[in-house]
Amino acid sequence: MAHKITLIPGDGIGPEITKSATRVIEHAGVQIDWDVVEAGLTALEKYHDPLPQEVIDSIDKNKIALKGPLTTPVGKGFRSVNVALRKEFELYVNQRPAKTFKGIKTLFDEIDLIIFRENLEEFYSGIEHYIDSSRSAAETIGIITKRGSERIIKFAFEYARKHGRKKVTLVHKANILKFTGGLFLDVGVEIAKDYPEINFDDKIIDNMAMQMVMNPYQFDCIVTTNLFGDILSDLASGLVGGLGLAPGANIGDGVAIFEAVHGSAPDIARQNIANPSALILAAVMMLDHIGEHDAAKRLEKAVANVIAEGKSVTKDINKEKFVTTSEYTDAICRELDNMKS
Ligand code: NAD
Repeated sequence: MAHKITLIPGDGIGPEITKSATRVIEHAGVQIDWDVVEAGLTALEKYHDPLPQEVIDSIDKNKIALKGPLTTPVGKGFRSVNVALRKEFELYVNQRPAKTFKGIKTLFDEIDLIIFRENLEEFYSGIEHYIDSSRSAAETIGIITKRGSERIIKFAFEYARKHGRKKVTLVHKANILKFTGGLFLDVGVEIAKDYPEINFDDKIIDNMAMQMVMNPYQFDCIVTTNLFGDILSDLASGLVGGLGLAPGANIGDGVAIFEAVHGSAPDIARQNIANPSALILAAVMMLDHIGEHDAAKRLEKAVANVIAEGKSVTKDINKEKFVTTSEYTDAICRELDNMKS
C-alpha cells in the first residue's frame, strides 16, 4: 500500500532537489502518494500567506513530510516558516547526521557524527523587539526549560542506546550563560546517570568548535541547544564535504518533517546544478522512519556508490568535472537498477 506523505517543494533550489528526491524514492521501489502543498515565498505570492492552513492540515493528517528549503527574508518580512512548522507540530528534535562519503575530498576520513539540536526553545523562540522607537537597541529573550532540555537530551541518549553509539557530548556555554546553559547542563548530568553504558561528557561551545575541527573522532553523538546546534551542524557538514551532503530530521512525538540542512541557495536556483544529496539522504532517514529499511539502505548505498565512482557528481563536489542535478539523479537511479539485477 502506498504511504501518504506531505511534500513541500519549497523555493530556490527546492523544486529541483525535491523532484530528484521523489524520483529516486520511486526508483527504490517505495510507493508514495505525495500530497503536494506550497509554503514560503511561493505560497505568499499565490495565497498571500507563507504558511497556508492547507499545509498544516496536510501534515496533521499524514504525520510525515518531506520538505524542500524555504527562504526566510533577512532582518525583515515574514518569520521563518521552517521555525513555524517546528513549533506548530512540537518538533523538538533536530537530528542532523554528518557522515563521510568515499570519493569526497575532506580533511578527515570516516567521520560519523550525529548532532541532536534542541529545536524549539532559546533564541528561536522569536521573543524579540527593539527597546525604543529609534531602534537604538534590541532585545531577544532565549528561554530554556527543564522539560525542553529533558526531552531532547533523553532522545539523544535513547538514540545512542538503540543504535549502539558509544558516547554523548553535551555542548553549552554554562560558564557565561549560567542559568540557561547551566539548566541544560544540569539536566544532562542527571539524565546521563540512567545510561551508564554510554560515555558522557560536556564541552563549552567555543572549545567544542575548535575540537571538532582539530579532532572530530573524539565525538559521536552531540546534544546541544538550538543556536549552537544550528551552527555546529553546518560545521559538521563542512567536515564531510559541505551542505550539499547534510540531511536533517525534525521529530516530535507524533509528526516528523525531513529536510536538508541547507537553505534555498538562491545563488544557484533554477540552473540544474544543485546537489540533491542532502534532501535524498533526508529521504533515506524518512524511509527508515516509516519502516522502509531495505529501500533506505539501498538508496543510501546508491548515493555512496555514485559519489565514490566520481564520474557523475555535482559542481559543489567537483568544480572541474561535474554533471547536472538531473544527470546525477539519473546516475543514482541507474545504480539502484544495478542493485536489483
Ligand atoms: P544556503 O544553505 O541556502 O546556501 C549557502 C551556500 O551553500 C550557497 O553558496 C549555496 O549555493 C550553497 N548550497 C546550499 N545548498 C546547496 C546544494 N544543495 N548544492 C550545492 N550548493 C549548495 O544558505 P543561505 O544562502 O544562508 O540561505 C538562503 C535562504 O535559505 C535564506 O532565506 C535562509 O533563511 C534559508 N534557509 C532555509 C533553511 C530551511 O528551509 N530549513 C535552512 C537554512 C537556510
